[in-house]
Amino acid sequence: MDRMVSLCKRRGFVFPSSEIYGGLGSTWDYGPLGAELKRNIKDIWWAAMVHQRDDIEGLDAAILMHPRVWETSGHLDHFTDPLVDCKTCKARFREDELDSARCPRKPSKTPKECGGELTDARQFNLMFKTFMGPVEDDSAVIYMRPETAQGIYVNFLNVMGPARQKIPFGIAQIGKAFRNEITPGNFIFRTREFEQMEMQFFVKPGEDGRWFEYWREQRWQWYLDIGIREEKIRWHEHGPGELAHYARAAYDIEYEFPFGWKELEGVHNRTDFDLSRHAEATGKDLSVFDDENKKKFIPFIIETSAGCDRTLLTVLVDAYAEEEVRGDTRVVMRFHPRLAPYKVAVFPLVNRDGMPDIAGRIAADLRRHFKVFYDDKGAVGRRYRRQDEIGTPFAITVDSDTLTDQTVTLRDRDTMAQIRVPSDALVAALHERLHI
Ligand code: ATP
Repeated sequence: MDRMVSLCKRRGFVFPSSEIYGGLGSTWDYGPLGAELKRNIKDIWWAAMVHQRDDIEGLDAAILMHPRVWETSGHLDHFTDPLVDCKTCKARFREDELDSARCPRKPSKTPKECGGELTDARQFNLMFKTFMGPVEDDSAVIYMRPETAQGIYVNFLNVMGPARQKIPFGIAQIGKAFRNEITPGNFIFRTREFEQMEMQFFVKPGEDGRWFEYWREQRWQWYLDIGIREEKIRWHEHGPGELAHYARAAYDIEYEFPFGWKELEGVHNRTDFDLSRHAEATGKDLSVFDDENKKKFIPFIIETSAGCDRTLLTVLVDAYAEEEVRGDTRVVMRFHPRLAPYKVAVFPLVNRDGMPDIAGRIAADLRRHFKVFYDDKGAVGRRYRRQDEIGTPFAITVDSDTLTDQTVTLRDRDTMAQIRVPSDALVAALHERLHI
């Protein structure tokens, strides 16, 4: 984990936010490669959930919502974690995580074992508060959304009508969410500002069980489609003690991180709780008409709720590999080609005999199709290694043979095999191999 985090900083994937001011606890910025990787994750999710289907619509709702939304959803009263303080070292912990937490003074011990005296637990609301408008009084308090889902519920009818959708259908959204977590950490696993990729699927009561199973399968498959190793993911079913009061069933997809099995995404059957509550609070009719039974009903909701940053961490952890190559350690990020920030790198073998010109032309031509990295500095072996480290699936080298037969070397990141390809056949050769 430490080596992967340092690679992220060194190569510009992810680094601490406001670093020159000493950083800000658990906030991270995505550099050039991280921004590409994140964008690719979101694009693939959006393609699978919205573009490739006719029963899901996209939405981009505001982060700031009417404060009554959070009263109705239960976040104001219940979106809390039990907080305990250590009277000795003043560190703060989540009471439900004491067994896995570490004492900052004695890191080999948990806060229960270190001898420090803990306060009683008190409930701490995780929502960030701010004020709307110039007057900072109670009537101006609003919240940064702690989840994107509520933006979907309150817009249910705004989307259904104009999009001419009928139940069953879904609404998908990607956006920032904020939680004032007591114990953020593990790099970008738990942060206070993060992005969610959520989809809420509206179904007829009675059909919820079938759709729940359907969405579990779809979401499991999505992780395999982006190249996550199947043996590293598993289902965790919420038992009766864990199940939210509104949920009929809930499963998490968990990934085996270096710090243990942890939640990656939740798939929940939320019943008609959300729409019923919002209808009650606003007096608006959020029911729909069932043509078959000629009756109105409030749809049930099947939710799939994934964290974008957490998926990115999973992708980084899952792709990171160190291997021995001819007595050397090669670090390689085995990203799925669709996720890789750069798809191909282009090198002139040496900076003479017209090779940089040819390589430059090839790079410019390929840029119309793929994200391309051009590099003419240093030994070619080192250039390959640099691309391995950032997960570029292919590298092309222009060498002296290119000058006579117009072929180039095409090197595969994973096998390191090199083949010769005519330079005018590169676009097709790459499309075939990248599967994009
Ligand atoms: P946890 O138990 O880890 O706090 P949760 O059950 O509260 O998570 P949900 O409310 O179901 O999480 O949120 C859906 C998804 O959003 C999670 O599966 C996770 O991927 C992501 N997520 C939630 N909180 C955070 C956070 N603080 N930082 C990064 N991602 C988060």
